[in-house]
Amino acid sequence: MKIVGLTGGIGSGKSTVVRIFGDLGVHWVDADDVAREVVEPGTSALAAIAEHFGAVILLSDGGLDRAALRQRVFEEPAERAWLEGLLHPVIRQELIRQLSAGGAGDDYTLPYVLLVSPLLLETDQQELVERIVVVDVPEEVQIERTMARDDNSREQVERIMAAQMARQERRSRADAHIDNNRPLQDVERQVCELHNRFLFEFR
Ligand code: ATP
Repeated sequence: MKIVGLTGGIGSGKSTVVRIFGDLGVHWVDADDVAREVVEPGTSALAAIAEHFGAVILLSDGGLDRAALRQRVFEEPAERAWLEGLLHPVIRQELIRQLSAGGAGDDYTLPYVLLVSPLLLETDQQELVERIVVVDVPEEVQIERTMARDDNSREQVERIMAAQMARQERRSRADAHIDNNRPLQDVERQVCELHNRFLFEFR
């Protein structure tokens, strides 16, 4: 089973594009979902985090207080390194597990599954994938769509974008890209073409 990585900056349209692949029957794993799942109440990772930082990073329902944790590691780079050292291997292992499960089963006849990740190119997640697909839109479109979706200010979106890989570099690392500055019908056509290309290449 081959793994195709799908990435793109904030608001570029990864979720939109992966839903179109999903309509074609392609299974996928979302790295953001996995990153949340591994710190759900009852996980060993959450227990380790609570032991390290104290109960102040827990909400009253026992869940992780992400804002409190973010604040804490933002102030102290060494704590960030500790946290990443803990979570990185756990997330990677869970990604591999879910990707294998997603491609398993006699009823799944496609030769590939997708790994959707905003940080595919910034992390060693790229080592897991055979091909890299970048969902691409101009920065201004990214900003406008994210502001409209999340009710964020322009400054907030620009700050997040500044911490992500620059558009040109991301594009230069892609095996294929989807131009998402287009009407959805056209994006669907691009996805179909890419799907057929992968069916051919991985046959
Ligand atoms: P994030 O990384 O922030 O999770 P994303 O890359 O998954 O974002 P989406 O949520 O798919 O991006 O898209 C961002 C917004 O843009 C959404 O509100 C979506 O409906 C809209 N959008 C996506 N593609 C198009 C398109 N081709 N035309 C118009 N709007 C679009």
